[in-house]
Amino acid sequence: MDRAAARRLLDWFAAVRRTLPWRGPFPRDPYAVLVSEVMLQQTQVERVAPGFKRFMTRFPSLASLAAASEDEAVAAFAGMGYYGRARRLQRAARAIVERGAWPATVAELAALPGMGPYTSAAVAAFAFAGAEPPVDGNVARVAARVGALELPLGSAALQRCAAAFARELHAGAPVPELFEALMELGATVCTPRAPRCPACPLRPSCGSARDPERVPLPRPQRAAVAQNWAALWLAAPDGTVLLRRVADGALLAGLWLPPLGTVPAGEAPAAVARELASALGFHGDLAPVAAVAHSITFRRIAVHPFVGSVAGPGVGEPTPDLARRDPGDPGLPTSSLLEKLHRACTGPRQPGLAERWGDITAG
Ligand code: SF4
Repeated sequence: MDRAAARRLLDWFAAVRRTLPWRGPFPRDPYAVLVSEVMLQQTQVERVAPGFKRFMTRFPSLASLAAASEDEAVAAFAGMGYYGRARRLQRAARAIVERGAWPATVAELAALPGMGPYTSAAVAAFAFAGAEPPVDGNVARVAARVGALELPLGSAALQRCAAAFARELHAGAPVPELFEALMELGATVCTPRAPRCPACPLRPSCGSARDPERVPLPRPQRAAVAQNWAALWLAAPDGTVLLRRVADGALLAGLWLPPLGTVPAGEAPAAVARELASALGFHGDLAPVAAVAHSITFRRIAVHPFVGSVAGPGVGEPTPDLARRDPGDPGLPTSSLLEKLHRACTGPRQPGLAERWGDITAG
């Protein structure tokens, strides 16, 4: 890479860059950088833009996010999914408030709870003029194509090569825009499918312009794993349902869902449901309804709901992590699984799981 390539990239960016709510002048507010980068990790820009504005209106400062309850922070991520990010973001905010000042280097930022190498490098680069490149999937793809690197997406080798590529380009024009321009190029021109090579400022130095989709190699797929869960749907006459906040360290941690339990191989879902009910002091009837399908990354989960009625107090006494809530409450930090269970337990019968999934071996 030469200086001319860096210059062409910056000129291209200046001409075509998208206007996005977090793209103010450099150096940027580290809080806004942190929020936007965490949101952008698993959500499309189009959905992040309104979500970012809502979040920043609700929590305009690091201190306001740190002082909020976990439920409030998670609820402010509504519409973007992957709510674990909201909890990690809040933990980082609290650590910074406790620390008394923003850390400015990649190493210091990476020491905050929940901060990965990408987010740390992005905050350091965009808020504190750091020279360590944030390497996301877009940067990795551009680097693989320019260098014609036959490396799989997500591999440590590609990550290292992409960081070296971005560092070299940045040395030719050491401004934070350079990193953002590289990400923008991957997002809008050097796209996974049908990249627009004729419009690309890096074309003169690209080793893949004739056959751009040959690299990077696809990410190795993890085989799907089947699981069975039992769910308790304990409904009260006022329409509320007993929900529990999923414990830290579990799948769906921090979200409000009906009590759930994994069904071990060879055990009946009804037995697990009965154990869940007993632990809550519920000894009434439980009626099974058709299982609902829910996927979490590589897991294909059949969730078997069991419906019971709770009329008065005494069952599942409220605690900070257990409450009767309206399952349709839009402010409830939850997963789409709640809506599926709500439909299954109160609406017409759902189609069988076999109609939606192929054969998956239970493991
Ligand atoms: S020339 Fe094509 S393949 Fe190479 S970086 Fe540009 S868009 Fe990507």
